[in-house]
Amino acid sequence: MNDSALQALQRPDASQSDADDVSSGAVRTLKAVGYAAKHSFSNLKRFEFERVSAGAHDIEIDVLFCGVCHSDIHQVKNEWANTVYPCLPGHEVVGRVTRTGSGVTRHRVGDIVGVGCMIDSCGSCGPCQAGDQNYCEGPNSWLATYNGPMIPAAKAPDQSNAYGRDNTYGGYSNNLVVREDFALKIPAGLRPEVAAPILCAGVTTYSPLKHWGVKAGDRVGIVGFGGLGDMAAKLAKAMGAEVTVFTGTPEKLEEAERLGLNAVLEKDKEAFGTLKAAFDFILSTVPQKHDVNRFIELLKRDATLCVVGALEPLEPINNMLLAFHRKHVVGSLIGNLADTQEVLEFCAKHAIGPDIEMINIDEINDAYKKVERGDVRFRYVIDMASLAAA
Ligand SMILES: [Zn+2]
Ligand SMILES: [Zn+2]
Repeated sequence: MNDSALQALQRPDASQSDADDVSSGAVRTLKAVGYAAKHSFSNLKRFEFERVSAGAHDIEIDVLFCGVCHSDIHQVKNEWANTVYPCLPGHEVVGRVTRTGSGVTRHRVGDIVGVGCMIDSCGSCGPCQAGDQNYCEGPNSWLATYNGPMIPAAKAPDQSNAYGRDNTYGGYSNNLVVREDFALKIPAGLRPEVAAPILCAGVTTYSPLKHWGVKAGDRVGIVGFGGLGDMAAKLAKAMGAEVTVFTGTPEKLEEAERLGLNAVLEKDKEAFGTLKAAFDFILSTVPQKHDVNRFIELLKRDATLCVVGALEPLEPINNMLLAFHRKHVVGSLIGNLADTQEVLEFCAKHAIGPDIEMINIDEINDAYKKVERGDVRFRYVIDMASLAAA
């Protein structure tokens, strides 16, 4: 037995899953249906498949709602050159628990739970031990809710696959199976469909705001005012910061004002001039290559600009802008499980959440086009009940 096979068997879910199914002599599976893309150039279409059903430490959920994240589009179109097909996206999942493994203690049948970007991690590396599963340094890093391990076997140091699977199917589906500790509790005060985008867009922006210590009285800039920017601005405001959003879309200025935010058009050079060295923290949510230099000029001495939207090379950074006032440009990736639970509770407590628009699953390809054009500020959320009719 090679190391990876051994590791796979040592995973509590893998071994227990076998143990749970001794009577049948085979791994029990769960029939599933969702919307998947077969190639980078194809639309999402109805796709039937089977999931391995819950092992001792897993839960099975019926998906109620799933948010549409810009990453879903990047992934479907293979824009990060790592997509495994069929690609069945969805990592802003809220559902009802329908079955629990024999060892599950955190959730009960009937509970409303959420699943974000991760469904497993190695559990033993430094970051995992410190609770930062999203920075797992195991041979395959964390297991994504869709598209399989972050580091596939082909790129793992010894070509191993600790999770025993190359691909995973996400929440654009009627059901999902997940380790119990990777399912979050949805607070009673939060509508399930509103909670869905908090599981990625919410925690992706909450985690850096928290990590870099944004506090009451700080001036915070949010670059980009789409799904991530909307959450970022609301969270920073609820933390007590004075928030300014930077947008390229004139129609979004009014919306920002309605939310009690300052708003600046990205082409407004005069406004940029008056805001030099004004900000304690700036969060860029722009989901593609962009120029951060003009925003670096808006930071105070020692302040930080964090990029969460783009996972690709940025326009070159002029280090003179950083060095002269000891400024920082940093990145941050989603958030850990504790932060995800925390941001759900923070949103319930402060009565904030994403602005959402509900769609049926058969509207997903049109929704992608609108998100790509950048003309939606709200988050699309798929009502998964529509799958039955699709
Ligand atoms: Zn996402
Ligand atoms: Zn790890």
